[in-house]
Amino acid sequence: MIDYLIVGQGIAGTLLQFQLSKENKSFRVVDSSYFVKSSSVAAGIMNPVTGRRLVTSWRAETLFPVASKTYQSLGAMLRSNYITAKSIVAIPQSIQMQNEYERRINDMQYTMLCRCTKDNLLHRIQTSFGMYQIQPAYSIAVQRLLADWKSYLQEQQLIIATEFDFSKLQLIDRHSVYYDGVPFQKVIFCEGIQGQYNPFWQHLPFKPNKGEAIILEFGNDIDKQYIYKFGGTTLTFYNHPNLWWAGSSYELENLALTPSESFKQKKLEEITSHIKDSFELVNHLVGIRPTTIDRRPFLGLHKKYPQIGIMNGLGTKGVSLAPWLAIIFCDFLHRNKPIPDTISAHRAF
Ligand SMILES: Cc1cc2nc3c(=O)[nH]c(=O)nc-3n(C[C@H](O)[C@H](O)[C@H](O)COP(=O)(O)OP(=O)(O)OC[C@H]3O[C@@H](n4cnc5c(N)ncnc54)[C@H](O)[C@@H]3O)c2cc1C
Repeated sequence: MIDYLIVGQGIAGTLLQFQLSKENKSFRVVDSSYFVKSSSVAAGIMNPVTGRRLVTSWRAETLFPVASKTYQSLGAMLRSNYITAKSIVAIPQSIQMQNEYERRINDMQYTMLCRCTKDNLLHRIQTSFGMYQIQPAYSIAVQRLLADWKSYLQEQQLIIATEFDFSKLQLIDRHSVYYDGVPFQKVIFCEGIQGQYNPFWQHLPFKPNKGEAIILEFGNDIDKQYIYKFGGTTLTFYNHPNLWWAGSSYELENLALTPSESFKQKKLEEITSHIKDSFELVNHLVGIRPTTIDRRPFLGLHKKYPQIGIMNGLGTKGVSLAPWLAIIFCDFLHRNKPIPDTISAHRAF
């Protein structure tokens, strides 16, 4: 019998599959390109600071070292590099925000925040309220990582490119299922926002969150070691030779998968008023983040059907959460360690 059937090969499914392979567990993957994959729109940024109050993001001191180690070992396995250490250059938009940055200098746990005085940046960036540098931050080459992992799965004949068909699922007993006539111990759903329609998990409080991004090509080389942040815009290196990702938006009402003209215009204005180099618009992307009401992921097995599991709800932080969640899940599945209540799919809803 095969140990696991994993549904979904976004960042959640991929990191879970990688952890399972490290633990010598057998698995197969079902993934459909029909659905929008939030991971293929993501910038892949791990930013340790969040919000206007500049607080350290949830569990960054645990998530970042785990993610850094995991992406390095995934890179070693696939003979590539997917993680780059970066600095965030934050450009405040008001005197109040500048004061907030000043107040937080040397006052943060885990995160290092300091004034940025780099000459090469100062003459290319427009700022009225100074510049600040934040570390540690990372950039993950999500699209390349997912494509390489998919090629690996295809070579090993571990992936079926199709939509999961619930009519082919037979729950035999609490320890096994059949899918399309093949026996598995468990099926784990890593479906991103499609999880809200899953008959086993649709009771969970998903809160879909639409996000857009534009891809720009700059004429001159901008310093790639930095992620630039100004107002609601994040600008980060995306792909060779000189493509940059600029986003994003957080939209809860209009979830149509169509790019909006207003988002595009707003971002273009923000970028031209901060970056002195010229650029061309190359693409406009839209995705739906699998966000949850309490902003925490869903991890665990179904109460009534323990042969059915979930790893979902990664929200705005898929790249930093996925490696840690995969380890917690495997500790639970294979070593009986409990899943923390805050991320359990059984927390009180
Ligand atoms: C604009 C934008 C920018 C973002 N930037 C960042 C960022 O910089 N850093 C960060 O950490 N996060 C970022 N995110 C959030 C991040 O994208 C998500 O947290 C993450 O991608 C969720 O991954 P996932 O694997 O759960 O879902 P997905 O990536 O959506 O993957 C789900 C997969 O399951 C497949 N699937 C679903 N249902 C079925 C089915 N029934 N049968 C077969 N296959 C199925 C889908 O086709 C898909 O391949 C961003 C999101 C957006 C929209």
